[in-house]
Amino acid sequence: MRRDILLWPDPRLSMVAEPAGTDEATLALASDMLETMYAAQGRGLAAPQVGVLARVFVMDASWKTGTAQPETFLNPEILWRSDAVVPSTEGCLSIPGLLLEVPRAAEIILRWLMLDGTVAAQKLTGFRAICAQHEIDHLNGIVTLDHLSPEARAKAEAVLA
Ligand code: ZN
Repeated sequence: MRRDILLWPDPRLSMVAEPAGTDEATLALASDMLETMYAAQGRGLAAPQVGVLARVFVMDASWKTGTAQPETFLNPEILWRSDAVVPSTEGCLSIPGLLLEVPRAAEIILRWLMLDGTVAAQKLTGFRAICAQHEIDHLNGIVTLDHLSPEARAKAEAVLA
């Protein structure tokens, strides 16, 4: 079932999400989030963006250019970030029409809980590394705008107004 995507500045986008379990509600949430993400032409979506303050995000880095590869991450934790930082130009389904440049670690090691209750850990590179950092920001109540200098933010907010 598709869910509504909250738009910035909805206050729920600035709240810290709570740990998720692997219960039925979480399974349904993850399935709904993937459906919602695909319908919105996105490659990543975090639960707070559909109004659920749980530490869950979904991602599919390849569906737009190849085969769909849906992934669900529960309680993700970044264990390591590369020293190398890359400028990333990012859109956000909650801030439509705005692309903002955000510095991101080029690579991360991520640990998370899978829907079947097992723990996974993996080094993420390229788009997956950057997308995961964007979505984990959402779980911590942070959006792309929060990475900008006060001047750049004022300019971006003027565009949105
Ligand atoms: Zn976003």
